[in-house]
Amino acid sequence: MFAKFPILRWYPALVILLGLALGPASAHAWGYKGHRVVGSIADQMLTANARQQVAHILGFDLKTAGPWLDCVKSVARQADGTFVYTTNPNHPEYETPCTQFRTADEQQRMEDYVARNWTQCSYKAGNVERGCHNTYHFDDVAIQRDRFDRNYQGTNDHDLVAATNATIAVLLGRPSPPPFSIKDKKEALFVLSHLMGDLHQPMHVGSVYLDKAGNLVDPEVTHTIDPATETAGANSILDRNRNFHSEWDDIPDDLGEASTPELLMAAKAVAAIPGRIENWSVAWATDTLLVAQEAFTGASFAPSGSKWAITFGDRDAYLRQADAIKRRQLAKAGARLAAVLNTIWP
Ligand SMILES: [Zn+2]
Repeated sequence: MFAKFPILRWYPALVILLGLALGPASAHAWGYKGHRVVGSIADQMLTANARQQVAHILGFDLKTAGPWLDCVKSVARQADGTFVYTTNPNHPEYETPCTQFRTADEQQRMEDYVARNWTQCSYKAGNVERGCHNTYHFDDVAIQRDRFDRNYQGTNDHDLVAATNATIAVLLGRPSPPPFSIKDKKEALFVLSHLMGDLHQPMHVGSVYLDKAGNLVDPEVTHTIDPATETAGANSILDRNRNFHSEWDDIPDDLGEASTPELLMAAKAVAAIPGRIENWSVAWATDTLLVAQEAFTGASFAPSGSKWAITFGDRDAYLRQADAIKRRQLAKAGARLAAVLNTIWP
């Protein structure tokens, strides 16, 4: 769904394509609270060396850094081609996780990042170019698949998995692989600390494709993505009139904005991914794709205007399962973010 109809996961762009009234800065996967929780877990799992490197290079803890990649969505391209951080008067709440990045130096860093990551691909809402960097947050692999594969529809070379690998390359001291422009390790840490959250939000990796009657469609059979069938990472699916994607961006209220002892314990029990660090992001995406299958178990879909309505045979069971999945995924994301940094800086 992506290259053709990319969705900003965790608040996608497709939403905008589909005419949902989300503003430009609306893409906030896991919400900022989820990204803070992920960073907070990782902060507590770093080796002494990794913690020192993060403090020295990044200048923020990972909990603070987690929302940065959503904050840059407030950088708007001006008529003269320059890029300026622009607050949205209709959504002052977008600024909540971004205040630490509004110093002159940090704001310039955000504007510079967006300027360098705007044209690598075209990502439009209607006729308005939204900037390639907004695609780094998601993949849209059909939930019928059992693994992430770069050959599948809904993936591309500027997707979530590729972007994650790009940050890891930079942190390993290698050049930023095209099409990404990640100028230094600080920027790589900002981007990685966010994308590890996105990579574990099931609606940012797996996607449902539906025909007009609400039946599942398999884009690997049709070998193309019909825009009419794509749900934009569940942004065009409604659960009791609520955007199903954003429902998954929300985390359980009791978690607040930081790790809990229970989450930290769960994170410490997350098994390591074997093999080379360069292959981990694909393994994580496969894992999350299977979780997306789980998230849609028992769901049925019906047309609802230009969108689809989702229903569950046992709604209470679905809600309990979603709560458990979110906690599990946040723990995995935090553990795996720490694992990357501890591997780079043992
Ligand atoms: Zn995101």
